[in-house]
Amino acid sequence: MPRAFITGVTGQDGQHLAEFLHGQGYDVFGMVKGQNNPRVAALTDEMPWLELVSGDLADLPSLVSVLEMVQPDEVYNLGAISFVALSFTQPELTANITGLGVLRMLEAIRMVGGTHDNPIRFYQASSSEMFGKVRETPQTEMTPFHPRSPYGCAKVFGHDITVNYRESYGLFACSGILFNHEGPRRGLEFVTRKVTNAAARIKLGLQHELVMGTLDTKRDWGFAGDYVKAMWMMLQQDSPEDFVIATGETQTVRELVERAFAAVGIDDWEPYVRKDPKFDRPAEVDLLIGDASKAKEQLGWEPEVAFPELVTMMVANDLALEAAKAGIDLDTLDLPG
Ligand code: GDP
Repeated sequence: MPRAFITGVTGQDGQHLAEFLHGQGYDVFGMVKGQNNPRVAALTDEMPWLELVSGDLADLPSLVSVLEMVQPDEVYNLGAISFVALSFTQPELTANITGLGVLRMLEAIRMVGGTHDNPIRFYQASSSEMFGKVRETPQTEMTPFHPRSPYGCAKVFGHDITVNYRESYGLFACSGILFNHEGPRRGLEFVTRKVTNAAARIKLGLQHELVMGTLDTKRDWGFAGDYVKAMWMMLQQDSPEDFVIATGETQTVRELVERAFAAVGIDDWEPYVRKDPKFDRPAEVDLLIGDASKAKEQLGWEPEVAFPELVTMMVANDLALEAAKAGIDLDTLDLPG
């Protein structure tokens, strides 16, 4: 059986990818860091077939050891400090993990190597945040980068060093430039999940307001479950290349709020939403919209879940989760459709 190794396996994408690869017949290994990592127990319950190994993107020797032990065919580097707002308060940590972590993983792959006939294939999780103050719309693989946060800057380094190791050492290394992708497993700090969770809790009477930053920025939001397939498809190509993965549609944060509240039957959402500048960032990415034509043509990849379904899926999940926690019977609520 082919063997896959995933960093960031406790995160949203790591979980979706682990499930997908397991379904494809892979032996799946995930890296976890630290002693007593609180997310491990839940993950082991949900995915008993997943093999967890200890290592850290800040520690090259640990990466070499885990690769020697696991002997993977494919490495997916999804581990990162991934929250843009946090990257402004912890920029050096972000540069170290999100940026230099990629270099360390590439070095470890170069050292361990795999076999001549079967060299390790590498996927780097690059990000639409690299486009930042966008130079053209929509953004493609050829659009120049202009990052707007320490996170975006670190991701640009990760992308460039992946391309550099491919060109310098002939590694099979691909960079997927993924636009925002969401789902029920998204962390509550990200705007989609924050909003769907708040709409659910407000409907259940567990929360009375939603405090937000800017409602004007635009994002190209897809479903994480669709996007992890593209990661795998990139590594099955004959030669390594980079791909934009996006839906090609953009919505404002305001439209997200409107839709999430509508999904719980609240049409007049404005009285529930208060703006607080503490959620504003020192620099913003105003507009993202990706052109995934290359992925469609070369990989045969297309998103299956559109934005309205995505929001409905996330709200339904949050309603069920929050109702169960509070002991509320969902049938007693007046919900649309
Ligand atoms: P990002 O695109 O990786 O930064 O993903 P986020 O989900 O963190 O943010 C998406 C957009 O929503 C950004 O333009 C944020 O400034 C905006 N936003 C507005 N209010 C909030 C909020 O309360 N939390 C978060 N996370 N983002 C917010």
